[in-house]
Amino acid sequence: MSEKIAIIGAGIGGLTLALALEKKGIDFHLYEQANSFEALGYGLQLSPNVVRVLQNLGMSKNLEAISHRCFGFELRSFEGDRTLAQWKLDSDTPYYQCRRADLHQLLYNSLQNKHSISFAQKLTSYRVEGEEITLNFAHQDLVKSHALVGADGVRSPVRQTLFPQEKPQYAGYAAYRAILPFKAEYNPLMDKATVWMGENHHVVAYPNGNQNPWLNLVLVVKDSQWHQQGWTIPADKQEIAQSFKNKSKLLNTILTDLVSNPEPCYKWGLFDHQPLPFWTQGKITLLGDSAHPLLPFQAQGAAMAMEDAYILAHCIAQETSIQTAFVKYQHLRLKRTAKVQQTSRNNANIFHATGIKAMVRDMGLGLISLVNGQLLNQKTAWIYNYDPIKLVNI
Ligand SMILES: Cc1cc2nc3c(=O)[nH]c(=O)nc-3n(C[C@H](O)[C@H](O)[C@H](O)COP(=O)(O)OP(=O)(O)OC[C@H]3O[C@@H](n4cnc5c(N)ncnc54)[C@H](O)[C@@H]3O)c2cc1C
Repeated sequence: MSEKIAIIGAGIGGLTLALALEKKGIDFHLYEQANSFEALGYGLQLSPNVVRVLQNLGMSKNLEAISHRCFGFELRSFEGDRTLAQWKLDSDTPYYQCRRADLHQLLYNSLQNKHSISFAQKLTSYRVEGEEITLNFAHQDLVKSHALVGADGVRSPVRQTLFPQEKPQYAGYAAYRAILPFKAEYNPLMDKATVWMGENHHVVAYPNGNQNPWLNLVLVVKDSQWHQQGWTIPADKQEIAQSFKNKSKLLNTILTDLVSNPEPCYKWGLFDHQPLPFWTQGKITLLGDSAHPLLPFQAQGAAMAMEDAYILAHCIAQETSIQTAFVKYQHLRLKRTAKVQQTSRNNANIFHATGIKAMVRDMGLGLISLVNGQLLNQKTAWIYNYDPIKLVNI
């Protein structure tokens, strides 16, 4: 395909698309609003479905070097130190936990031609003129392109132009993100992802990084209103410890450490929106959070963005026109991403259950654990066993 593609956004999704296109020798240019490359963020869980993508893009060794390997999962309660359920991951492909900044940097470093990215380019609008798309950037000259991919995140200006009525909605949850240096008391949390569930609260904890690991924490609370001006604000750690009061000795140790640790802790309002009916219009399409923002309760937002990118690059390489490539990509991705969006929402209800629902949940988990904890793998098999490489090679 000889048409030049403009990608907006050098986040996890945009960079993965750039890398996949570069490997196929397809012409593109990536525009990012930040002034320079900034690797940001705390932890990311990378399940086997997305590890397959990264391995296929040639990153196996480097990915292993920045990651901690997760072998299983554990569910606990705010009511004490009893484990409600634990199971081992059933997959030959690894499940990794790393720092988002390390993965972001790895994607950037893997891109051979750094001239294919322009920083300090904030897209303000675009218009379609015949076969061309004119892109307007703040403080820059106009740019012409043949196709446009919005990989520009949950507040995507590309999506806002395609769907002016569709606005991301506050989902009713606030999340605090923090990291702590890993220490001996946290050893029961090694090699797995642990979730503590309490009334209207849950906490996810997992080690990340390879050498000198950190404990990554995501603390989520049901919070009906988001009054803040921004989407991310510095958090009051004493307030967090108070809000997440519980009867688990280990979780209380973590909360005490969180308060005394100098690392900053941020509060995020969680936003999502209903699945869109389509993402593609002619030579314009969406990818990652701009197409399908996800609540983080199945740890799949970045994974879906990278699966999208891998499959989109293949469609572009296989099809003779950009329009058919974009339609094929959308066809392959809409149903799966909508189902993952819904699953993430459902998980919030399970994690935050109260009263009788919480009792039934805990008894059910106890029973499954007693009979065969491995059965819990079946719940996520459709997500983790998905193989984008096989899919595009059929
Ligand atoms: C608490 C929390 C925990 C999470 N944990 C996980 C996890 O464990 N595993 C997982 O897979 N996912 C996780 N996620 C989700 C994941 O972080 C996101 O889904 C993922 O980063 C989306 O990638 P993206 O490339 O689509 O968007 P983004 O990473 O948001 O990138 C968008 C890029 O576009 C740029 N941009 C925006 N507007 C413009 C413009 N006008 N012009 C130019 N550039 C622009 C931005 O600067 C940015 O660089 C979590 C999310 C949260 C909130």
